[in-house]
Amino acid sequence: MAENIYDEIEIEDMTYDPTLEIYHYPCPCGDRFEIGIADLRDGETDIAVCPSCSLMIRVIFELENLPKEKGEEETAELEEKEQVPVVA
Ligand SMILES: [Zn+2]
Repeated sequence: MAENIYDEIEIEDMTYDPTLEIYHYPCPCGDRFEIGIADLRDGETDIAVCPSCSLMIRVIFELENLPKEKGEEETAELEEKEQVPVVA
């Protein structure tokens, strides 16, 4: 699948809209890239799309750094799969 990624943007550089629950970032066409926070949480996609010109950016983010959902405690199961070897 050919991906047409315009750029990779850190989520810190994007703007969060708490009303729409989306992150957005200015697009060179004058519109803006948009991605829903739910999509980021679900791991559905990390691609924000500009609705005007169909340009795309990849959002660089850490799941644990996303704002928490209102009234819903996320039970993030972070399993430590790395075992510390016992040094004799
Ligand atoms: Zn655009």
